[in-house]
Amino acid sequence: MSAEAEPTFRDLGLIDPLLRSLDELGYEQPTPIQAGAIPPLLEGRDLLGQAQTGTGKTAAFTLPLLQRLDLDDKSVQAIVLTPTRELALQVAEAVRSYGKHLGKRGVHVLPIYGGQPIHIQRNALQRGVHVVIGTPGRVRDHLERKTLSLGGVRFFGLDEADEMLKMGFIEDVEWILEHAPDDRQIALFSATLPRPIRRVSERHLHDPADVKIAHRTMTLPGTEPVSYTHLTLPTIILPCRSRWSPC
Ligand code: AMP
Repeated sequence: MSAEAEPTFRDLGLIDPLLRSLDELGYEQPTPIQAGAIPPLLEGRDLLGQAQTGTGKTAAFTLPLLQRLDLDDKSVQAIVLTPTRELALQVAEAVRSYGKHLGKRGVHVLPIYGGQPIHIQRNALQRGVHVVIGTPGRVRDHLERKTLSLGGVRFFGLDEADEMLKMGFIEDVEWILEHAPDDRQIALFSATLPRPIRRVSERHLHDPADVKIAHRTMTLPGTEPVSYTHLTLPTIILPCRSRWSPC
């Protein structure tokens, strides 16, 4: 396979402190979703990513998010929305480990989710946080209480958007995006693209790069399985590779 087909993390444009963390974690090579998503996200483009858990999707959007942070600015600059507390904690841990060599004092990451006393989260937010990872209901709650501000947020990650839809969070997701600054970047990841998720993408993403792992077939709810070749959006279709692709 050619060097072009198998880029390194450095080829994707990541900076040395992130490359160092990846090296320490033993990540030798980008997965297909990482190779497809990292360059457009580093350019500041919105992204519609179709990938399941196990493909390396977390690093695909959190590495560019980390590279674009201004660590001297203690306001919240990035919010990642996840369907569950467990995923919020997992993504927060990934962000911490990828960002551990950035800046002098590191990256301040805070998971916020329902079930934890809100005053604990409020106190942590007041001390200064760069990245919030949270479930949509609790993030909205903080925004309505004004214990969290969207004013400095330049990046939104929507992780497992179809699961957020299944859990009844899409109205909260839309509310949050509607109150976000106009110049924000959004990376939306979803294993499937049911109609309400497509609608969120059409309403809130601006000319997104469209990256997906090639499957033989996919199922849109309410339709028969269709081949990717039937999709009309401009698409980067990434090859199946045994280790990372579910196909
Ligand atoms: P995810 O799909 O983001 O949940 O990632 C699945 C697992 O793959 C996690 O344990 C990651 O730490 C790991 N991982 C992600 N990207 C790479 C990579 N490029 N090389 C090796 N492991 C990776």
